[in-house]
Amino acid sequence: MRRVHLAGPASRSDLANYTGLNRSTVGDLVAELTARGLVQERAGPRGAPGRPSPIVTANPNGITVLAIAIFDDSLAVAIIGLGGRVLARESVERARDGSSAEATIARVAGICRTLLDGRPEQSPVQAIGIAVAGVVQRSDGELVVGPNLGWRHVALGELLRTTLGLDVPVFTANDADMATLAEHLRGAGMGCDDFVCLWGEVGVGAGIIAGGRPLSGRSGFAGEVGHLPLSPAGRLCHCGARGCWETEVGEHALLRRAGRAGSGGPGAIDLVLARADAGDPVAISAIEASGLWLAVGLATVIHTLNPERIALAGFFASILPYARDALTKALSELAIEPLAAAAIVPARLGADGPLIGAAELAFEHWLDDPASVPLIDRPEWSSTADRRVAAKEVGATRLAI
Ligand SMILES: [Zn+2]
Repeated sequence: MRRVHLAGPASRSDLANYTGLNRSTVGDLVAELTARGLVQERAGPRGAPGRPSPIVTANPNGITVLAIAIFDDSLAVAIIGLGGRVLARESVERARDGSSAEATIARVAGICRTLLDGRPEQSPVQAIGIAVAGVVQRSDGELVVGPNLGWRHVALGELLRTTLGLDVPVFTANDADMATLAEHLRGAGMGCDDFVCLWGEVGVGAGIIAGGRPLSGRSGFAGEVGHLPLSPAGRLCHCGARGCWETEVGEHALLRRAGRAGSGGPGAIDLVLARADAGDPVAISAIEASGLWLAVGLATVIHTLNPERIALAGFFASILPYARDALTKALSELAIEPLAAAAIVPARLGADGPLIGAAELAFEHWLDDPASVPLIDRPEWSSTADRRVAAKEVGATRLAI
């Protein structure tokens, strides 16, 4: 199930090769997933000798989840189906006006309702994933602190579930962690077991995959690299400390050096890049300073974690082509040689990374045990007879396994 969800359609014989199971077992498992409405099959291509192997595809309506991203300056909501199909999507700007978590969640819930009302014939969402710009406790998904949102100790998931009136599981996680999960599963970190994704906007955070698994730390707070104290005599950070990495490398620092302090958001960064394109020396040196400060923090990350690949996401991906020379030169001076070889690449999923990661977090709940998806009331089944046949097949499969 996870294979067709992440890698797309696969023939039964591909799945047999991938899982190491024999073809008849794969056939039984596909029959069970079909009976639960999770996959669909179509005839495979003819041409090879023997019977063509049917192609198994994830059914986007088999499981649908709500994915939500709460950033400092924008909100995004999507309904995403199995296989990663985006079925509906909406994003809005969010003023950096210190609005409360309750007001923001009420707005998010309003967008969710609009998207859900637009799909009245479809099966209801089965889980919700939230990516938020803040420190999130792994055990219960509490937002412990969102320094730039100005929120502390908010049970965001519970708040959303109550406001929406949906009784489904809600999973909440840090936005950089979710961008990392998305890039690892579907983007720049695919196939890479030692991977770091550095997410930059006003705040800076990293998600870490070590030995193929997410590194979360005791409470889930690992990767808060934006608050590494790299400039002890530096500026005050939102978190209350002085000289955090994000005060030198975050969006505000770039805009300040480019002479645009007080502006913000993606448009503001684009303007600095346009000025650099036009040869403006202030914009160019501001971006180079960001490249240098990126290297200072990345040297710490590289020496600690020895990653194979680092993806730069958020506005870091936009400035990478302009900042790469300054970054590479500084890193070669700051990092010992074998470690400095870590590849630095732009993230592939753009601003949608945290949203896609939040969806994957919600899918994970079902992918861990696809057999927990109920057999009844699947819209794909046209008649009660179909259901009876399906249930009988599943019973037989269970016995066989
Ligand atoms: Zn800080």
